[in-house]
Amino acid sequence: MATASPIDSSPETRFGGLESCALPRLTVELVPATTICSNLRSILPPEDWDGIRRQAYQNAGYRCEICAGKGSSHPVEAHEQWTYVELPMPAGHTESWQVLTSIWALCPACHEVKHLGFAEQKGRLPQAMAWLAAINGWSFATTVAYAQEAFSTWRQRSRRPWGLDIGWLETIGWHPPVLRWPPSIRETFDVSSVRP
Ligand SMILES: [Zn+2]
Repeated sequence: MATASPIDSSPETRFGGLESCALPRLTVELVPATTICSNLRSILPPEDWDGIRRQAYQNAGYRCEICAGKGSSHPVEAHEQWTYVELPMPAGHTESWQVLTSIWALCPACHEVKHLGFAEQKGRLPQAMAWLAAINGWSFATTVAYAQEAFSTWRQRSRRPWGLDIGWLETIGWHPPVLRWPPSIRETFDVSSVRP
C-alpha cells in the first residue's frame, strides 16, 4: 500500500513503546555506586591507561564509534564498557563481578549519555537526554522511560558489592599484573556497609 497505516504515522506509537528500546544505538551505562575501584584510570599506571585509550582512539580513526562525530575541544574520549555477572558460590553466597568487555572511543556528547548520573550532577541532564533521544530517534516519553529503567537497574545493582575483572585487556595486548580486584569480595568488603 502506498499510504502508511494510522499506527505507523503516529510518532508516539512509533517511538513510545518500550519495545523500541530493545536495541538502541546509544545506551546508558551506569556504574554501580558499590563497585570496588570503578574505572581503569584509578587502578592502572597512568602510562598504561594513556596507551590503552590512545589505542582505542586510533582504532576508531578519532571519530565516535556511535555517531561518527567529534567533540569541539577534543575529538573522542575512552569509554569502558562493562557487563555484570553473578557467580554462585558455596553456602548459598553469590559474588558479583563487573567485567570489562570493551573500550570504545566516543565523542563527549555520547560519552556523557553513558554516564547520565554524572550529567545530572553537572546540571546537564536536559542536554544529555536530548542527545539520547536524537541519536536513537526516540520521543521524549520513550527517552524518559528508558532513563528511568537505567536508574532503576543502577539502584538494584548498587545494593551489593561488585568486584572488578579487567582480563579483557589481555585480548588487546595489555597484561596488567592484577586482573581482578579484590581476589575475594567477601573477605575484603564489608557488605553491611553497602547502603540500601
Ligand atoms: Zn558520538
